Amino acid sequence: MFSKLQRQVLAAGNVCHKVTGLQQQVRSVANITAKSQAVFDREDKYGAHNYHPLPVAICKGEGVYMWDVDGNRYYDFLSAYSAVNQGHSHPKIIKALTDQASTLALTSRAFYNNVLGEYEEYVTKLFGYDKVLPMNTGVEGGETANKLARKWAYNVKKIPKNKAKIVFAEDNFWGRTLAAISSSTDPSSYEGYGPYMPGYTIVPYNDIPALEKELQDPNCCAFMVEPIQGEAGVVVPDEGYLTKVRELCTKYNVLWIADEVQTGLCRTGKMLAVDHENVKPDLLILGKALSGGIYPVSAVLANDEVMLTIKPGEHGSTYGGNPLGCKVAIAALEVLLEEKLADNAERLGKVLRSELAKLPKEKVKIVRGKGLLNAIVINEKYDAWEVCLKLRDNGLLAKPTHGDIIRFAPPLIINDEQLNNCINIIKTTIDKL
Ligand code: PLP
Repeated sequence: MFSKLQRQVLAAGNVCHKVTGLQQQVRSVANITAKSQAVFDREDKYGAHNYHPLPVAICKGEGVYMWDVDGNRYYDFLSAYSAVNQGHSHPKIIKALTDQASTLALTSRAFYNNVLGEYEEYVTKLFGYDKVLPMNTGVEGGETANKLARKWAYNVKKIPKNKAKIVFAEDNFWGRTLAAISSSTDPSSYEGYGPYMPGYTIVPYNDIPALEKELQDPNCCAFMVEPIQGEAGVVVPDEGYLTKVRELCTKYNVLWIADEVQTGLCRTGKMLAVDHENVKPDLLILGKALSGGIYPVSAVLANDEVMLTIKPGEHGSTYGGNPLGCKVAIAALEVLLEEKLADNAERLGKVLRSELAKLPKEKVKIVRGKGLLNAIVINEKYDAWEVCLKLRDNGLLAKPTHGDIIRFAPPLIINDEQLNNCINIIKTTIDKL
């Protein structure tokens, strides 16, 4: 666990230009109709203020499009943080949902149900692991992987009781629980929520020597990392990083946990981002697009040596593995395969990046990404929030992160014509800055 001082040092390089709800409304008031304002006001009055949404009031989604309450149509260039890889309300997934919802939605794990095993067999065979542990949200997948790693540490690696250490990469993001924020280096995630989870250590991302130093500790049980850091602003590590991570984890008998909640399921142009280097983590965390944005489904996949360290009654969730989620997840995975969405993401990702690279360098400093998980870093003299408001006004919805980064991650079903329209919107918007 790093000290307060270390956190402050880390945070200093990670200044977050946050905009308050009030500022947002003032800055974009010219574009807001009474109908939309009523939506914002009600959320503002009755909901906790733990988000700062772009001012647009969405009421419908279909494929790559979303519509607001005033009937304006937008291209979705966020895909609910990569949950909607299959497109909004994919008919096959909706059918799976409605068929199963009218048959059997939830049993809890107190009883067997006739769908869970079908899903478990399907997903483990697809990804090549002995077993799956089903949960609901991405962060629960991360929590589950951490718990599995600790059980394995004590039962298999024989680390002394309560001494197990898990290593994370700087600027990681895996959700909002106390464990997740305890590993965070972003003050807006962790500040004010202490005391933090012990047994966590941070190394710089994409730094193999620093990682090796930590893994040498005999009490180290796991390294948890995103193959591409999504929330940090689509930070792509050097080629060969994941291969080295695999080698070092094997060498020091440390579990490699790959958090593919955002990068997985075709987003980066392969079924998994680790597939770009043909390497296999010991624990794989999936979420988001595992349900195509229809229903929260997450999963941890691992082999028996790890998975069977948790015994009946030692971990679980009322909704995890429910028949509705299982049928939705099977359909969501089938859509990815049937519609060859990895290939589409790979091909159109290249088109998108090559076009974005033509934008003037004095406005767009960096273009990066893999497949259809991309980001631009804009010049500091422009405000990413303002750029996103202009993109919205031109019919494309994207979200800024860290003040100067905008993520571009459309649903993977996007076609050439739609992508070209989006590229034109981005070009026009940037030209007019
Ligand atoms: N892991 C990664 C890499 C993520 O990007 C996220 C969410 O953005 C999570 C975990 C947490 O997922 P959830 O919000 O479903 O809990």
